[in-house]
Amino acid sequence: MKNQGGDLEKTIHPLAAKYLRQERMPHMACPGCGIGQVVHSTLIACDELALTPENTVWVQGVGCSSRITYTLWKGDNIDAHHGRIFAVATGLKLSRPDLNYICFTGDGDCMSIGGNHFLHACRRNLDVTAIMFNNGIYGMTGGQVAPTTPMGAMTTTTPYGNIEDPMDSVQVAMAAGASYVARWRSTDFRQVVSSIKKGIQTKGFSFIEVLTQCPTQFGRYVLKTGDPIKILQWYKDHTVTLKKAEKMTPEELKDKMLIGEFAHRTDRTGVVERYWDMIKKIQSERA
Ligand code: SF4
Repeated sequence: MKNQGGDLEKTIHPLAAKYLRQERMPHMACPGCGIGQVVHSTLIACDELALTPENTVWVQGVGCSSRITYTLWKGDNIDAHHGRIFAVATGLKLSRPDLNYICFTGDGDCMSIGGNHFLHACRRNLDVTAIMFNNGIYGMTGGQVAPTTPMGAMTTTTPYGNIEDPMDSVQVAMAAGASYVARWRSTDFRQVVSSIKKGIQTKGFSFIEVLTQCPTQFGRYVLKTGDPIKILQWYKDHTVTLKKAEKMTPEELKDKMLIGEFAHRTDRTGVVERYWDMIKKIQSERA
């Protein structure tokens, strides 16, 4: 956007000025979209951990979240093919283990097209931080059903209602071996910041799912509203904290998504340190 008569630096958030390429602003999210909230949370986490564009790389897949974060970071950005974000991140982290990697992916990119790579990143306990924006639908490509779309939901490819069970990504991440696993809503600002910080600080694969409102596709097709406030209310009505869930019956928990911190393991090593241990051992044996 052209600066309409003034000093652009004065009109932008200090964190955006510090970390984001101004020539790429404003981002392309629709009005009312939750992606900007999550990017903001990420910048706060980076700032509080004193990360810099020099020591941190953003990696993106394909989808609304990835399109928006692509080339935005002042440091290195890598854009992977659809679903291949963790394959690319694996190569990057193995070759430059000294850098931090923040991987932005969507529910379609991560759980559907990239499901295989996601499983193996968890299994290998790859030391990167994955933030999955879950809008419950394919947003960028026109509102098609995703593996996270609720049962019964109308989308452009399920005009009579979705007959598939949605995938619970945090359960998949835990079962596959991720070290840190959390799920929040885009409006759980402090919790999202805290989880991203923990994810960056945790050795091993960190997975933070954020339920992100999408007025343009999920709102329009599934909830029959483009009003972000109504969509946020729907998320409020359909989520429950892990603590509250302990006192609820299976019937009460039906159709509810659990939010909270699901796993924080510090007892597992990962493929990156084992790879470099092996290289050092072989080099010393050959010296
Ligand atoms: S289509 Fe949905 S997820 Fe994509 S930018 Fe628009 S509101 Fe956000």
